[in-house]
Amino acid sequence: KVVTRFAPSPTGFLHIGGARTALFNWLFARHHGGEFLLRIEDTDRARSTQPAIDAILDSMSWLGLNWDGDTVYQFERAARHAEVAHQLLTAGHAYKCYATAEELSALREQQKAAKQPMRYDGRWRDRPDSDAPAGAPFVVRIKAPKEGATTIQDQVQGPVTVQNAELDDFVLLRSDGTPTYMLAVVVDDHDMGVTHVIRGDDHLNNAFRQMTVIRAMGWPEPVYAHIPLIHGTDGAKLSKRHGAVGVDSYRDELGILPEALDNYLLRLGWGHGDDEVIGREQAVEWFDLAGVGRSPSRFDLKKLENLNGHYLRFADDARLADLVAARLDFTVSTDQLELLRRAMPALKPRAANLNDLASGTAFLFRLRPLVLDPAAADLLTVESRALLASAHVKLDALQSWDTESLEHAVRQTAEEAGIKLGQVAQPLRAALTGKKTSPGIFEVLDLLGRDESLGRIKDQIN
Ligand code: GLU
Repeated sequence: KVVTRFAPSPTGFLHIGGARTALFNWLFARHHGGEFLLRIEDTDRARSTQPAIDAILDSMSWLGLNWDGDTVYQFERAARHAEVAHQLLTAGHAYKCYATAEELSALREQQKAAKQPMRYDGRWRDRPDSDAPAGAPFVVRIKAPKEGATTIQDQVQGPVTVQNAELDDFVLLRSDGTPTYMLAVVVDDHDMGVTHVIRGDDHLNNAFRQMTVIRAMGWPEPVYAHIPLIHGTDGAKLSKRHGAVGVDSYRDELGILPEALDNYLLRLGWGHGDDEVIGREQAVEWFDLAGVGRSPSRFDLKKLENLNGHYLRFADDARLADLVAARLDFTVSTDQLELLRRAMPALKPRAANLNDLASGTAFLFRLRPLVLDPAAADLLTVESRALLASAHVKLDALQSWDTESLEHAVRQTAEEAGIKLGQVAQPLRAALTGKKTSPGIFEVLDLLGRDESLGRIKDQIN
């Protein structure tokens, strides 16, 4: 059975790169009918916060990345991590190191001066505990292999080999008995039954050290897939400098739909031919590690917005009305919500995000008499006001306020004046919306309704 996990450190919002890692793990598990687990790596007590945990869980739910079983909190498992360290100690795969902080900093200085890599030199590896003063503090270190090489068959990077001489005897337990991150990850992955570790390639170096512990315990080795990090359009690692990096900003500030962000993140670093629009079900069916690219992908907001525009056009109108209502700066009544829903088909085709959609609805709620944008006001010349007057007469005479009758009335106004439809539509649009651009004029008339439309036109005639 395939078991994957997402293991964020809760030190801030869910980063867009973390979201992609979570998505790949989710898709891989779902594709194989396996499990996707969530582990909060909160061992760094100073930097882990509850608001960060809440933000991560919230963003994952929003993206539809549901996880199986209970959320695992790493810090709660500290006793289990220490237990494994003691097993390694007993089995002779780890040892107590009594080197003092002063000793170690002197060693570092020496190595620095000699331009050698800074690394613990194994001074307590073969020394008996009896050499240390009674009751002296110690850390527990892994006995890393010294000879040969370790190779990881990474599913994305291919085989990656490190000479064991380069692996250090890193710390498993600190002198206060608390586990290090390196130990905790391995123990948790094992206990959670994780079969596939899919994560950012900034963890590739850690994999070799983690492998040391796994082999010393005789545990099954997981399959590794280290995915390249996301870069900005300038090729540098994605950071705040490039704009929003938190999933919550894409939702709240940029007005992106979750299915669009999922689709975009999927395509960012994974490919299936030239397909750009890939829905959830299709993604589950197609996802594999072979399709993950080896080079960093570049985050492109324009592409994300293109996809978002696509998903907006297919989104349910009532859902969009709710999302738009939440972005307006007044409390939307039931009637207004219904009006928003009716307006969506006209507004959706021109929107790239929910902000566009929300600002597109502004004309619906403006109060008479409208204050026109300067560009719209310029359209209201003496001649066009005369056209408005004759349109008003035609519209006022309509028995039924439906798009067909509305179109007929406006066309007739244009024909009688011997001008093109657009020449009537433009001043009408200015009068009805206060703007030079809006949805189609018949839709605008229909949405505003008879009284409001006639009133707004009248306001601009006098
Ligand atoms: N907690 C690590 C991080 O947030 C992930 C560790 C892992 O996936 O093994 O970068």
